[in-house]
Amino acid sequence: MLFEKILVAVDGSSASTRAVECARKLAKLTDATIILVHAYPKTPEYLGEPNLSETIARHIENARNLIDPLAQSLQEDGIATITEILQGPPSEAILNVADTREVDLIIMGARGLGSLGSLLLGSVSQKVLSHATCPVMVVRSQKE
Ligand code: ATP
Ligand code: MG
Repeated sequence: MLFEKILVAVDGSSASTRAVECARKLAKLTDATIILVHAYPKTPEYLGEPNLSETIARHIENARNLIDPLAQSLQEDGIATITEILQGPPSEAILNVADTREVDLIIMGARGLGSLGSLLLGSVSQKVLSHATCPVMVVRSQKE
């Protein structure tokens, strides 16, 4: 089957929300599994304890609040859905999961939450497009 495993990169932006909706339509057609990926920033060690653990716990909680409702809604549509929350640069997280889970397609937004208005692609989508070994589908938000 052409698209059995579809990775969707989620940062909460309107473009990434559209990426999820594209993935939903495609997964229904191809009976694919969707892997939702979110990366949160690495916390600097110098913060020390208990700040370090608290900051990481907050990042993970935010990530769950972002990803879990999406996963639930996809599952309610009968789509097998896996979630991956990773620490570190988003492009590395996306490329690592794509590699280790041997996904057939990556769907992501053209832009994300950082909005340096005029750029066509954000830095994460640029890096993923440059290095991915599988096809990448890039989705623009409606207002762009
Ligand atoms: P920049 O981050 O370079 O300022 P930007 O935020 O506008 O620019 P990107 O970050 O490249 O653009 O976002 C493009 C897409 O990459 C998003 O729509 C989303 O699909 C994915 N993405 C960005 N950040 C993350 C993240 N932390 N975790 C998972 N996916 C992400
Ligand atoms: Mg960004």
